[in-house]
Amino acid sequence: MKNLAANLDRRRAEHLYRRRRVVEGMQGPALRIDGRELVAFCSNDYLGLAADPRLVEAMQRGAARYGAGSGAAHLVSGHSAAHHALEEELAAFTQRPRALLFSTGYMANLGVLSALLGRGDAVIEDRLNHASLLDGGLLSRARLRRYAHADAEAAEAALAGPEGERLLATDGVFSMDGDLAPLPALAEACARHGAWLMVDDAHGLGVLGEQGRGSLAHFGLGPHEAPILMGTLGKAFGTFGAFVAGSQDLIETLIQRARPYVYTTASPPAVAEATREALRIAQSEEWRRERLRTLIARFRAGMEALGLPIMESTTAIQPVPLGESARALRWSEALERRGLLVTAIRPPTVPAGSARLRVTLSAAHTEAQVDRLVDALGAIAQVERP
Ligand code: PMP
Repeated sequence: MKNLAANLDRRRAEHLYRRRRVVEGMQGPALRIDGRELVAFCSNDYLGLAADPRLVEAMQRGAARYGAGSGAAHLVSGHSAAHHALEEELAAFTQRPRALLFSTGYMANLGVLSALLGRGDAVIEDRLNHASLLDGGLLSRARLRRYAHADAEAAEAALAGPEGERLLATDGVFSMDGDLAPLPALAEACARHGAWLMVDDAHGLGVLGEQGRGSLAHFGLGPHEAPILMGTLGKAFGTFGAFVAGSQDLIETLIQRARPYVYTTASPPAVAEATREALRIAQSEEWRRERLRTLIARFRAGMEALGLPIMESTTAIQPVPLGESARALRWSEALERRGLLVTAIRPPTVPAGSARLRVTLSAAHTEAQVDRLVDALGAIAQVERP
């Protein structure tokens, strides 16, 4: 039996210990935590929909009609009319023949990779892909090859190999960096090598492209170039869950073979009803994306004016790179003393020596709140400088 306490102590000493905060009210820029009100810049609620009264009402209506739980897995008796309608709407939104709901994005990635690949195949992944894509690759038992971040040439080199099936998986928008994958070049490389391209667009859908159709739409790419699209529903869409969109055969294969789909309880139908409302709002309320763009530009301009570090990101994810974990923690604590909540992101979520504050912006933030964050970061930098 390993000594758990000693391992935990080591984690603390390395500034890698993580703890949870108890949030007392609704999601939104103003969060009540431990009896204090903080302005949060770390959720993935990019469009400000998580606490939208229309979603809450749709969920209440869904609960009144379908009850609190789904009762069973989709393949048993848990696939409700609400799930089915949402799948049809997600297929239409992503302009693909079909979509399949999963309980979480983590499960969707495990499900796709383990259903499509096996021994003798290869999965090719960006080094900074989300943990669930990397874990799915390992679970599949295919050979896992990782290429340098966002490097399409390195990806192409990794595609050449003796294996049978080849699947290249990438985040569309990288979750901890906010930059976009070079999707057009990756799509061309996959076409040359007869490989599938799978895009996890957890942070692009709802935010990028016309009507929020995501990073593929941003680049003008469709199902032909990227046949497997994974999206999550707990970020810009404000609810919970995930889906995979693609061809009839892809979706039928997942229904038959994706174990995280087959062997788990369907999410509550009321959640699907709330997501249907979110999807409608996300498509029609373009002002939310415009507002987000304005706030992103304001944050970046403010940071640049103060000579503060930012990263190459045009999305709602605007990390402040700080290097060592202890430094990222110090900055996060200093922000909290000023009433601002931005969690420090440390290894293994990001590579060693690249700890950061993962600032995220939302259409629900005000310009004054963004200015307050920039001012606070400026003040902390003053204190930190020798
Ligand atoms: N992919 C990416 C890129 C993510 O950022 C996340 C969430 N952190 C997931 C997948 C997992 O999605 P979920 O939270 O629905 O499990």
